[in-house]
Amino acid sequence: MEQVLFDQGSKHALSYNYDCLLFDLDDTLYPYSSGIAAHCMKHIQEYMIHQLGIEESKVPDMCYKLYKYYGTTMSGLRAIGYELDYDHFHSLVHGKLPYDHLLKPDLALRNKLLSLPIQKVIFTNADKRHTSEVLKRLELEDCFESIICFETLNPTNIDGGDEMKASNDHSGIFDILEYQPSSGVILPETPVVCKPFELAFEQAFKIAKIDPTRTLFFDDSVQNVSMGKSLGLRTVLVGKSEVVPRKAETSMSMSARHFNKSRWTLNNREPGMLGHSHKIRSSQFMPSNLPSLCPHI
Ligand SMILES: [Mg+2]
Repeated sequence: MEQVLFDQGSKHALSYNYDCLLFDLDDTLYPYSSGIAAHCMKHIQEYMIHQLGIEESKVPDMCYKLYKYYGTTMSGLRAIGYELDYDHFHSLVHGKLPYDHLLKPDLALRNKLLSLPIQKVIFTNADKRHTSEVLKRLELEDCFESIICFETLNPTNIDGGDEMKASNDHSGIFDILEYQPSSGVILPETPVVCKPFELAFEQAFKIAKIDPTRTLFFDDSVQNVSMGKSLGLRTVLVGKSEVVPRKAETSMSMSARHFNKSRWTLNNREPGMLGHSHKIRSSQFMPSNLPSLCPHI
């Protein structure tokens, strides 16, 4: 399968061959404006307050830092010392989401995905049930050959039970709010396998039999796109106006460089090329931009 993109400045056409489209799920296959992310954040914060006994005033900043350094809040909570039951966490964060109210079928995207004769794979940090619920509401359940989700990469659940650190027992918990990258203190490692860590990508490539150099990766996270790019994927950052450097060029949490977005566009009339990474906004991405982004697949 061939994709042709153009560097507007040089007028030279560049051809890429793709065997696979690799998609994040949340805020990528549907727009951030759906409200799913806001509901999830509220539920995560309630979990931290009520299940882990974390002081309410600290929770927003903790969420921000844990997501920034560990890809997901749950991954960060495990890293800094909390024991938590993965299934219980997911059931409280996703279990009460009003999916029918927030998501609608995307038949244009469905038809486009089904028309592309190459492998399509979901690669998400979300749990299996949430992934299934989202794809069902979007009517995209049968559009992907493989789904790599939380349980794929973390097959063993932790039964929190008596070991759960909650209700004022915060002994031995790493203070993420006091952490400064310049301090020389080493962040504790997380046992959770998830994006944006290299191990998660390597396992996804292996499980779905993906050649990263022949795969186009769509994700709304700068960190995920940066790591993917460093591992050889061609990448599309969904919903951001930023250039993403390769992981080797930056730390995981480095802010991406901004660029002149008027120069780079991604549609058939005004084609653009941006290194190995392309930028489109969520509102433009679904469903109409997939055909224009991949005009020759
Ligand atoms: Mg996402």
